[in-house]
Amino acid sequence: MNDGTDWTPAAEAALLARARELADREIGPRAAAVAEQETFAWDTFRALCREGIVATAFPRAFGGTEAPMRLRVRLVETMARVCTAAATIVTGTDLAGRPIVAGAAPALAADLVPRLASGEIQSAFALTERGSGSDVANLACTARTVPGGWVLDGVKRYITRAPVADWFVVVARVDGAAGARGLSAFLVPRDAPGLTVGPVQTKMGWAGVPIAEVFLCGVAVPESHRLGAAGGGMTLAQDTLVRARIGHAAIALGRAQGAFEMAAQWCGRRRSFGQRLGEHQGVQWMLAGMAHRLEAARCLVHTCAERYDRADPDVAVHASMAKLHATDLGMQVTTDCLQLFGGNGYLKEFPLERFMRDAKMNQIGEGASEVHKTLIGRHVLRESARLRHPCLDLDAFEARMADPEPPR
Ligand SMILES: Cc1cc2nc3c(=O)[nH]c(=O)nc-3n(C[C@H](O)[C@H](O)[C@H](O)COP(=O)(O)OP(=O)(O)OC[C@H]3O[C@@H](n4cnc5c(N)ncnc54)[C@H](O)[C@@H]3O)c2cc1C
Repeated sequence: MNDGTDWTPAAEAALLARARELADREIGPRAAAVAEQETFAWDTFRALCREGIVATAFPRAFGGTEAPMRLRVRLVETMARVCTAAATIVTGTDLAGRPIVAGAAPALAADLVPRLASGEIQSAFALTERGSGSDVANLACTARTVPGGWVLDGVKRYITRAPVADWFVVVARVDGAAGARGLSAFLVPRDAPGLTVGPVQTKMGWAGVPIAEVFLCGVAVPESHRLGAAGGGMTLAQDTLVRARIGHAAIALGRAQGAFEMAAQWCGRRRSFGQRLGEHQGVQWMLAGMAHRLEAARCLVHTCAERYDRADPDVAVHASMAKLHATDLGMQVTTDCLQLFGGNGYLKEFPLERFMRDAKMNQIGEGASEVHKTLIGRHVLRESARLRHPCLDLDAFEARMADPEPPR
């Protein structure tokens, strides 16, 4: 974690201004074209590398600029306001780079991380399988111990950037050990014998960042390429997923902000029943509802990022809350904004249908909304077991209920 002291307020403001300029001048205008293709958005990726935005995910010791989370969420929002692919390139670089930064042996990290930070090479994070997505601890991909390393077998599904990745972080179950503690993470090069990337899986949105299945058939991995501790695969995945969940929240928030700005602009121009749409009270109330909810979501996401930067022990549940809230709101806001565009909103000629399609994915990836509700609910119950509210004396109540004598 990074407390951000390497970044002065002026340096943060300068990078954010450059990101905004890039989004408005280059990435926004070509976002619709990017959204038409299922190939990797190389131009967008190179622009993000050129402006030093990709490097913010990596430590200074390895050629990165290690931005604090409070800055990274703002960068992600800035990109998502115009283009989902650009935003997911920023968060996806982190998703697939973080386990290498956190878990690779020093020599391997020194070789790979500077090249990931410059954009020379790319990695992918292969956790999900055909039979286990939400239920990650039950994944089936195996790592069999052999002299000098392991042999991996299994199929990974929906792996972002698989079609272009040079390296794969693969989480697998070692020698049949049960549960989350049986998992370890490994780093596998694309050209490893037995590793095959399947065809691109076409999807509803999130174009420009292709996904594919990854097949591992007797793939040999040397001892030097295990990431983190033996049995530490779940810990490494959770460390990665907390960051990724904050990233999803920032994407959803930035995109919803973009849709909202466009809808507000539209309502100031479009006329119905002799007046501008925005002059109808019902429309004003819709805009007001979106404005205050977006502001509340921004506070939640930014506070969560600050918790991350100061290594708050409860950051994981706050990441769940930020993701749940911002992604559900993102779906609602993009749907309502499309509604305000009427039939035009439904046309590909306008960007709202793209924003709405892209919003759906944030409610599913890195833990579906329902899974986050469960995590938050469990946390609430754990915490409440330690609490005593001064207005409620449950011990006294239970003692009274246990007393068979009538009160005198
Ligand atoms: C575009 C895209 C990119 C992705 N990129 C990657 C990647 O790079 N690497 C990677 O490893 N994975 C990736 N994924 C996988 C993604 O993280 C999973 O799809 C997600 O975690 C959900 O898993 P699942 O699809 O198997 O859904 P399932 O686990 O089958 O769940 C289906 C639905 O059931 C409900 N549900 C599940 N469990 C519960 C529960 N406990 N309580 C209540 N409801 C529940 C939820 O509504 C959920 O949406 C990607 C997916 C997509 C679509």
